[in-house]
Amino acid sequence: MLAAFSQPYAKEGIFTCKIRKRILCACLALALMLTGPFCRGIPAQADSIEPRLANGYYWPNTPRTVYLNVSALPASYQTAAEAAMDTWNEVKSLSNQSMVIFRPNTAPTGAAGSIIHMGTLGFDFIGYIVFSPPGGPELTAVEILLCSDKSFTVGANPGAYDVESIVLHELGHALGIKHCHEEGETCFSPTCAINVMNYYFEQNETRRNLTAYDRSSYQTIYS
Ligand SMILES: [Zn+2]
Ligand SMILES: [Zn+2]
Repeated sequence: MLAAFSQPYAKEGIFTCKIRKRILCACLALALMLTGPFCRGIPAQADSIEPRLANGYYWPNTPRTVYLNVSALPASYQTAAEAAMDTWNEVKSLSNQSMVIFRPNTAPTGAAGSIIHMGTLGFDFIGYIVFSPPGGPELTAVEILLCSDKSFTVGANPGAYDVESIVLHELGHALGIKHCHEEGETCFSPTCAINVMNYYFEQNETRRNLTAYDRSSYQTIYS
């Protein structure tokens, strides 16, 4: 488009060409300022209009209930996972509607069902999520893994990770939320250190409360 546009000017003097281009540029800039679609893409200050990051996956047809089979987890982990589900369930859309409601399911749900269980994948992680279908974007199921090579606990205990905090984080991914920043990136969120959707988590720590950033990330996807 631009190459075709500039061709007629090539036949004229370079001075006229520059002036015309400048006028054209000024008109385009003014038009953009007035219509504004590109202005919305300018990064905002880290305040109430900070960007919310989605991973591209979402559950269609909300409000809807998503059952997660927790039957393979130890009983105390099941309780912790249910508490994590309830924490997300309490968040309503900007129009005060339910969005995704997570429910624990202790009955087998078949191969296509969602599940939280212990397992390894041949690489290092604490918690991990596998999306179905793999490319999304409309989810039919999720598989949440707690790495069986790691030590888990319920609560903040030395040498182990809090199950509720880890499941809460992975459920955030299941809703379609991305980390507030990745390793090596600068974070725009003022609550980064306490965001559930911060990628980094330590042993002997609990992070069970959603920040406004976490909640609004969820609301942005489904509102
Ligand atoms: Zn961050
Ligand atoms: Zn994560």
